[in-house]
Amino acid sequence: MLYDNHGRIINYMRLAVTDRCNLRCFYCMPEEGIQYVQRQELLTYEEMERIVTLGYQLGIRKVRITGGEPFLRKGIMDFLERISQLPELAIHVTTNGTLTYDLVPKLKNLGIKSINLSLDSLDEKRFYEITRRDSFKKVMQTFEQLLAYEIPTKLNAVVMAGKNIDDILPMVALTKELPIGVRFIEEMPFNGKGSNGEAFEWDYRKILDHIKTQYPSIAKIKDPKYSTSLNYQIPDHKGTVGIIAAYSRLFCGSCNRIRLTPQGVLKTCLYDNGVFNIRDLIRAGASNEQVQEALQEALAHRAKDGHEAERKRKNNPVQESMATIGG
Ligand code: SAM
Ligand code: SF4
Repeated sequence: MLYDNHGRIINYMRLAVTDRCNLRCFYCMPEEGIQYVQRQELLTYEEMERIVTLGYQLGIRKVRITGGEPFLRKGIMDFLERISQLPELAIHVTTNGTLTYDLVPKLKNLGIKSINLSLDSLDEKRFYEITRRDSFKKVMQTFEQLLAYEIPTKLNAVVMAGKNIDDILPMVALTKELPIGVRFIEEMPFNGKGSNGEAFEWDYRKILDHIKTQYPSIAKIKDPKYSTSLNYQIPDHKGTVGIIAAYSRLFCGSCNRIRLTPQGVLKTCLYDNGVFNIRDLIRAGASNEQVQEALQEALAHRAKDGHEAERKRKNNPVQESMATIGG
């Protein structure tokens, strides 16, 4: 088992398999001037499989594949197939849904435990304004396909002043008939340029108050273990509503996760700027034991919470793109 210096169990690894993306969500990536990581700097699938397996041996039981857009990277389905052989490993995927439709049957066959589908608006025009790409129909087809194949699905929407506030209530309304989780995420400054000053006004309290204007009977439900979302349900609705206080950082006390960037940088907190590069260690010829020891050593110096991690960063303020972290 892996524990950090604050006694928190670490059993969840988030793996960003690419920094490339075919959307340009304005809260995540600048529209132009993006410098993608060189191919040789990316972890290879063999390296990722080795890291996942070594983590698994230490007690990692959940992996989330993310990015950039994970389905943009060639060979991703073969990789998923290989790690799905690890008997007790739950594999989850976060995707923008643009390339996912055709893959849904295969994802079902592989036993993918759940998909988080990023969908910031139910309105085609607003979707375009946010993502700067014309992919709304494809994403909605993916959503329908996920429902048809009964893959547990969560819709993730970043809540942004002046952009998609009008989508909050219609998205909550989806939970009436659909057995999905709709989750509203506080916007964070991981957008490739840093805080834009007026942003982040929509914190978890304001989101909940807004939902209550139409759904005063919304009730708190028990949060799953290690949940990052505060979870709610409206009586008689099939689905649930979650609010992720990602900027307020309410969930650090039970944080069970580590992150790997596409270049193999280990992050023990979303807000740190990387603890060490596992890829370099592997390419220098480290043994399995050495890699595992390095992982344990990094967790022995983990920040207490996201505020401490942010204070200790070498390059402040936070401004890297979330596409290089994976969410
Ligand atoms: N491309 C995939 C997608 O969009 O689902 C996976 C990667 S994306 C970086 C993972 C998650 O991070 C998405 O749900 C996205 O909405 C969220 N995200 C990206 N930038 C964010 C920001 N600045 N604040 C809050 N969430 C953000
Ligand atoms: Fe791409 Fe996902 Fe970032 Fe949007 S949130 S630009 S889909 S990586």
